[in-house]
Amino acid sequence: MRLSFRTDRWLSASRTWNVLGILAPIGMLLICGQMLLDMRSDAWDKATQTSRNLLQVIERDIARNVEIIDLSLRAVAENLSAPGIWEISPELRQLVLFDRAATATDMGVLLVLNETGDTVFDSHAIPARRLNNADRDYFRAHAARADLGLLISRPVTSRLVGVPVIVLSRRITKPDGSFGGIVSASLKLSYFTRLFANIGLGPRGAINLYLRDGTRIMRHPLEPADIGANVAGSATFQHFLTASHGTFVGGSLRDAGQRLYTYTSVGDLPLILNVALAVEEIDAQWRTKALVIGLMVLVLCGLIIGLSFLFGCELRQRTRMQAELARLSLTDVLTGLQNRRRFEDEIARAWTGPADPALVRSLLVVDVDHFKAINDNYGHGIGDAVLRGLAACLSASIRRPGDLACRVGGEEFVLLLPDTDEAGALRIAEAVHAEVAMLGIAAAGIRPGSITVSIGLASTQGTGAVTPQDLYPLADLALYVAKAAGRNRTHVALSRRNPPMRPPVAAQWAGAA
Ligand code: GH3
Ligand code: MG
Ligand code: MG
Repeated sequence: MRLSFRTDRWLSASRTWNVLGILAPIGMLLICGQMLLDMRSDAWDKATQTSRNLLQVIERDIARNVEIIDLSLRAVAENLSAPGIWEISPELRQLVLFDRAATATDMGVLLVLNETGDTVFDSHAIPARRLNNADRDYFRAHAARADLGLLISRPVTSRLVGVPVIVLSRRITKPDGSFGGIVSASLKLSYFTRLFANIGLGPRGAINLYLRDGTRIMRHPLEPADIGANVAGSATFQHFLTASHGTFVGGSLRDAGQRLYTYTSVGDLPLILNVALAVEEIDAQWRTKALVIGLMVLVLCGLIIGLSFLFGCELRQRTRMQAELARLSLTDVLTGLQNRRRFEDEIARAWTGPADPALVRSLLVVDVDHFKAINDNYGHGIGDAVLRGLAACLSASIRRPGDLACRVGGEEFVLLLPDTDEAGALRIAEAVHAEVAMLGIAAAGIRPGSITVSIGLASTQGTGAVTPQDLYPLADLALYVAKAAGRNRTHVALSRRNPPMRPPVAAQWAGAA
């Protein structure tokens, strides 16, 4: 497909490539920036979604297990008020009381304590192992209030099994409404340790289970010192209390870093579960890729800028060379004047078209007299020097920017004079004769005045009768007349189409003869 002239020019302009060299990298950087932002948002979406899924699974497991334990507590409390429970044998009573009690790996002992905190029944022993838990917070809380329902204690060390547990308890109310003790079940913290085990959250990620009062029940990875610590005063924990579930970025409770916190309440229980992921670790997932992609794009942008700059330079160089070649192709090597091709171009371009009567143009054909003799007498080199000198004389004789001096043959020159009438052209011809009269070649002993030229002059005279194309043959003819009339003079041609409007008299130059 051929490109249009406009497109062709646009593509070959060095500025186009400079602009492209800037716009293309800017476009690439914008696209790359958008891509990196998308990558970042994907990494964050993935982190949030993973945290939510994890929380959901853990929350369901804890809620289900607590519910099962609570059912056991309720069953024991109910069975205690069954008729005749105190009359039957201890073994049978054990069966009745604890038959619906759940047993699981991490479930500890189910105990019934009387109003003074002493063990009355023990799911694992008949008679109950002797113990008093009246000093435990949950015991005192139930003793003080009847409406607490299920209480979950802070982590404590079990007095029966000696391992860290949380205690779930319910109040036993006597028929008269007074405090009759509590029924409690312990859940080993090892349950949470196993539940959270093998969850990979990155080196600084963590899962925490809190009581609503800010007491930490469990942390993964496990830090024993953290268990039982209260973080209720921290802004991050306060944030957990604002909604049943949510996600936010906040300061770490542990170090100066930022964390992506995803949290949820555990069912209707006074428990809060959260997953914390280190912001740096989320960002690290896309930052390395972003760095590589960003660097590659920067290198590419650099290459594009460099290449388009080089290409622009190359184009400028080519344009300069083309202009120089064009100039050289129109320049005469010996004299530096315009050459015959330029003369013909000019005739074909500016001097063609419909003759405009308002425009006058004149043309002088200048030929060195007896130049052959100069060559013969002084040699070709001196002949060349004369031609160069003559070129200088012609250049000095014309003044307007539109005037043009060309060397059209061996020792034949032409002066194109736009907007110049016959009288003006004659003045130029006289100036040429005057300039040539001062031309001498000292090295060869050619004194000023010994070189002369003959000039043929033709002019359109603004009549429209003589077209610019006619001027050269007319001026050439006039030159012939000037030569025939004795040389060293100017002869003015008369239009071939118009009969002579004046006598064909050669305008004799009055200068040096
Ligand atoms: P006339 O007065 O009738 O014009 O005579 P003339 O000797 O000038 O004319 P003629 O046409 O017989 O000779 C022109 C000479 O110019 C012939 C040629 O050797 C010489 N010539 C042509 N081109 C060059 C050139 O580039 N350098 C030199 N030195 N001589 C040239
Ligand atoms: Mg000659
Ligand atoms: Mg000649």
